[in-house]
Amino acid sequence: MLLPNKKQETRLFEFAGAARFAYNWALDKEMQAFEQKKGFISAYDLRKEFTQVRHAKDTNWLEGISNNVTKQAIKDCADAYQRFFKLQKETGIKYTKKRLAHLARIGKKPTVYDRYGHPKFRSRKNGCFRFYQDVAKIRFSGTHVKLEALTDSRRKNRQSMNWVHLAERDRIPQDAKYMNPRVSYDGEHWWISVTIEQEISEPTGVYGEGLGIDLGIKNLAVCSDGLAYKNINKTAKIRRIKKEKRRLQRRISRAYGMANPMKEKGVRYKKTCNLIRAEKRLLRLNHRLMNLRQNYTHQITSEIIGRKPSLICLEDLNVQGMMKNKHLAEKVQEENFYEFRRQVEYKAARAGIPVVIADRFYPSSKTCSHCGHVKKDLKLKDRTYICPVCGNQIDRDLQAAINLRAYGENDIEQKFAG
Ligand SMILES: [Zn+2]
Repeated sequence: MLLPNKKQETRLFEFAGAARFAYNWALDKEMQAFEQKKGFISAYDLRKEFTQVRHAKDTNWLEGISNNVTKQAIKDCADAYQRFFKLQKETGIKYTKKRLAHLARIGKKPTVYDRYGHPKFRSRKNGCFRFYQDVAKIRFSGTHVKLEALTDSRRKNRQSMNWVHLAERDRIPQDAKYMNPRVSYDGEHWWISVTIEQEISEPTGVYGEGLGIDLGIKNLAVCSDGLAYKNINKTAKIRRIKKEKRRLQRRISRAYGMANPMKEKGVRYKKTCNLIRAEKRLLRLNHRLMNLRQNYTHQITSEIIGRKPSLICLEDLNVQGMMKNKHLAEKVQEENFYEFRRQVEYKAARAGIPVVIADRFYPSSKTCSHCGHVKKDLKLKDRTYICPVCGNQIDRDLQAAINLRAYGENDIEQKFAG
């Protein structure tokens, strides 16, 4: 996270504005070319043309912005347009039915812009504040990051303006090779993200047993060694924040309703200070919720990897996870699963631990871990599994985890045998 001063922040907004302008300009050019059946314009050609725009009379404010910012925005747009072409070719879908129905309702003809997967214009309203930094120019100290051309002065005592304070000390290594640095604003704070190349040392250490992990609603994760991690969404803290969030959302929508009771389209009105403040608060609450969840997931995935299992086996989320949550499904919960799996996969790879994803049809919770009997009519409400064959009694989620461990061990063995 960046901690810019007022002057720096103003410049950051200017940079983001320029990037947005360049992106939208490029998108408009691509769209025109598409409509006139002239095909795709390369980023190179667009950039050449944009040089004239930079020096044109009514857009010469762009001259004060680093060339790299607009250059990359144009490249991003060209890349997005190429992806759109590819998508159109691969899927063969010109327009989605939903879009066509919507257009018919408002009585408009579909344009290129309505096509399936077409890149959207960036807008201030949608919070598109982001821009690129030149790899060659960016530098990090333990406490600051040097961005390009925040000041246009070459005087030595002005150069400190280019150094933006970082919220965390030594978060980013100082002598690494940086790739694709991006600066963005989320409505509350400014951030910098950068990819670095790093040597990963060969993992060492004693490896324990394999670990099966069952993901669920009551507990986010139950491990085959009996450890369970509770679902953070059910804690008092999260509930309290969610409640406040709901209250704020109601208040905000009421305020909008009163400002525009007939719900007229395209009517502009001035927001009151209270409304602006409420919206800021809502944004902060959303960030807080996100951070709490993310942080919690990081803690437990790190702990799991830290126990150094010889392998990790997870169930396939696509089907199994969702079918299981058919009735209770909260979108948030699903996202938690994906995030959990993403973190386990990359952290395990870093530690040299193999990850096995169980086949989507593997009945992990319906199989008896003792005798292997498959109980087909197991209901979601049956929290305890009682085996009709051998009489084994066990918690349903724990059993699923134990089965997953066996599945994983079997899978690895077969790989070695084959
Ligand atoms: Zn049994």
